[in-house]
Amino acid sequence: MDAALGAPEKMAENEDELTPMMSQYFELCREYDDSLVLFQVGDFYETFCEAAEKTARLLEIALTQREDSTGTYPMAGIPIDNAESYIETLLDAGYRVAVADQVQDPEETTTVVDRAVTRIVTPGTLTEDELLDTDDNNFVACLTEDYERYGLALLDVSTGDFYATSARRTGAIADEVSRFAPAEAIVEPGAADETATECFDADCLVSPYDAAAFESEAARERVESYFGSPDALLAADAEIRACGALLAYAEYTRGGAEGDETESGGERGSLDYLNHLTRYEPREYMLLDRVAVSSLELFERRTVHGDADVTLLGVLDETSCALGSRTLKDWLRRPLLESDRIEARLDAVEEWTHDVRTREEARDLLREVYDIERLIARISRGRANARDLRSLKATLDVVPELKTAIADFESERLVELRDQLDELADVRDLIARAIREDPAREITEGDVIERGYDDELDELRETEREGKAWIDDLEATERERTGIDSLKVGHNSVHGYYIEVTNPNLDSVPDDYERRQTLKNSERFYTPELKEREDEILRAENRADDLEHELFRDVRSTVAAESERVQAVADALAQLDVLAALGEVAATRDYARPDIGGDGIHVEGGRHPVVERTQDSFVPNDAHLDSDDTFAVVTGPNMSGKSTYMRQVALITVLAQTGSFVPAASARIAPVDRIFTRVGASDDIAGGRSTFMVEMTELAAILESATDESLVLLDEVGRGTSTTDGLAIARAVTEHVHDEVGALTLFATHHHELTETADDLPRAFNLHFAAEGTDDEVVFDHEVRRGAATASYGVQVAREAGVPDEVVGRARELLAEAESADVEVDADIDDGASDPPEPAPKAIADGAADELAERLREVDVATMTPLEAMNELAELKRDVE
Ligand code: ADP
Repeated sequence: MDAALGAPEKMAENEDELTPMMSQYFELCREYDDSLVLFQVGDFYETFCEAAEKTARLLEIALTQREDSTGTYPMAGIPIDNAESYIETLLDAGYRVAVADQVQDPEETTTVVDRAVTRIVTPGTLTEDELLDTDDNNFVACLTEDYERYGLALLDVSTGDFYATSARRTGAIADEVSRFAPAEAIVEPGAADETATECFDADCLVSPYDAAAFESEAARERVESYFGSPDALLAADAEIRACGALLAYAEYTRGGAEGDETESGGERGSLDYLNHLTRYEPREYMLLDRVAVSSLELFERRTVHGDADVTLLGVLDETSCALGSRTLKDWLRRPLLESDRIEARLDAVEEWTHDVRTREEARDLLREVYDIERLIARISRGRANARDLRSLKATLDVVPELKTAIADFESERLVELRDQLDELADVRDLIARAIREDPAREITEGDVIERGYDDELDELRETEREGKAWIDDLEATERERTGIDSLKVGHNSVHGYYIEVTNPNLDSVPDDYERRQTLKNSERFYTPELKEREDEILRAENRADDLEHELFRDVRSTVAAESERVQAVADALAQLDVLAALGEVAATRDYARPDIGGDGIHVEGGRHPVVERTQDSFVPNDAHLDSDDTFAVVTGPNMSGKSTYMRQVALITVLAQTGSFVPAASARIAPVDRIFTRVGASDDIAGGRSTFMVEMTELAAILESATDESLVLLDEVGRGTSTTDGLAIARAVTEHVHDEVGALTLFATHHHELTETADDLPRAFNLHFAAEGTDDEVVFDHEVRRGAATASYGVQVAREAGVPDEVVGRARELLAEAESADVEVDADIDDGASDPPEPAPKAIADGAADELAERLREVDVATMTPLEAMNELAELKRDVE
């Protein structure tokens, strides 16, 4: 954050010489020194001096000059009408934006117009629809640290979702943070940088906030004013301080001014819709840390190629409205642990699967549901227009129909949700009576309030209408009175109403006509009566517009006062939508209801929910892991299906604990507390760590935190180093996880030696994927079998991947030689750092066969990408020639 953005030193020193407007600008810049101030001047938001230069560059807009009595300085402005898209660019560039609006009618003052910051736009506190993703929450986080605990609060200002938790270790906080992926975080001034780095992603904007807001007493009072006694809600002082400071920050970003549209500026009033604070224990949910979320591709694909929506969320998201879509994501991020809660969801999903007609009817209705969670937040903040209120009403109209559609549901959860669907008849009727069906977008210019809602307004509109009718008739009456057939009555915005008479007829103009305007061929007149009528119309119009605005604001506040009830309806609609979507998926894609409980994970005919959607024919596989068989070593050639299989077991578990049916013939799953993944080589280039370092860090985390109720996926551990090192690590990990941790584990490896280890350990076993290999071709059946794989077929795979024939041919010769030499892996050759390998001898001399064999094993193309394999083989070929 660039603190010195606003008031350049030079300007500040010469304060006395500035015009009042510029002093006002710099004053605001100083007050909001952590933000870029956008300063309203008429129809534009302007920036000046240094800030103007920065803004112009960032937004690619013209840098102009402002000239006043004190000199000239750079200026850059954006039109207010489409300010949001510019603001988005500023946020992306890492700025906060303080929007200073004119809060006084320029006509009311002879000096400078009052301006005040009405909102501070920051990445984590967005509420503008244009800047938000409908399918995603947008969280701001707050982290506190006490002697023995870290407190974490997370708030989505656009929806009112508010969560708090705490933990003793930063690792646990980082895991919680990764569930919510906040866009922004605040910390105490002076908090250790390392803590923030450990807890938040690099793309989360972390900055310190006002120390006073973090003080225990202040935080307590603030939490109390929103939610009642903090001690009843929250578990630790660290949590209370985090929630209190976060509320203070949210208030701060709502601006401190009594602007027209912010009914109650910086006070809590505008955040009245924050009604619920959910305090939870990290242990309440299955833990999916950011490594697991990313490697299981729950929400985003890791690879660059392929369709963006082939993620678990993508294939599951049959929700009908934004409320449901966000909730589904939230459920997937936090799968449940308690069987009862899982079963309750499964009962509900099952009920949806039974009846296609009801499902379709309900889903059609849910499609008409607006994002009322964000609507009510906007209504409470005094930022909603009349159309927003109408959208709320349109959604409430759906509620009774939906209740009827699902009237026969019997499962406990669906009955509860149905009961939670408050029809809000009072709110609906109020909006129906008060707001026109197709109201104007602007709330200050009339055309908003329905006829019959307010007597005074109706009278004013009647006066207006009568006046206009009188004027409409005027042309005819005046033509008759004066005998001038060409006489015309017209209106223009400068002069108002007039009677126009062409020059030849001027003689017939009566005495009571007063001249208003002279044109080339005619004169324009008015009569005292016309003037009087005109004034009357104008007065009525102005008063009516003001009154409409007033009435609208009253209606809006009345609706805002019901925010808690609206939120309850929104919550019920969201959950019904998710359950219906899961029902739809279950019914149309041949998913089965999992049994929850028992020992371990047992899946018959399981499928990968995402791969099966992109693959013509998917081969189902079984999986059995339990306390007698905890550790599976999975071998098989590259491309045979090992990682697909392992992920499918994890995804089926995630789905089951989310309360969804699963892609399998049948499944019995005892909830796991956490899924760990160490999958594939993901170089943390930005973090400056090598593949091997990343791998070992992830491994360390697994070994430290996994329990006998965890599911662990390990793919190619020890691949980032030499074969000998790698094998040693793989063995040690296997033994440790097997003996000490006892977690259910799937370990894919190309170290065939590990299959022997599995034979020796009582609870370990081998699984393999086979391949039909001929010299020229390799065919995978993608079927998992008990026992160890026999060959790796790496060379064939390399050929299939397009490695040139001569290289493949040479590799095959070498393979044959190595096999005939029948060498053992020599554990002493390696110093542990030979990746890439040392130069090889020019020819295969006697005694060099061992080394070459070793080399060839290291260059196991089966574990490489085609490009890597090709490069390695080409190098090998060069070396041995
Ligand atoms: P490995 O991990 O053994 O290298 P993958 O799991 O990446 O292999 O699978 C390679 C490809 O094979 C996948 O991209 C997928 O297209 C296909 N595949 C994997 N498993 C199956 C299956 N059970 N049925 C059909 N195709 C599969």
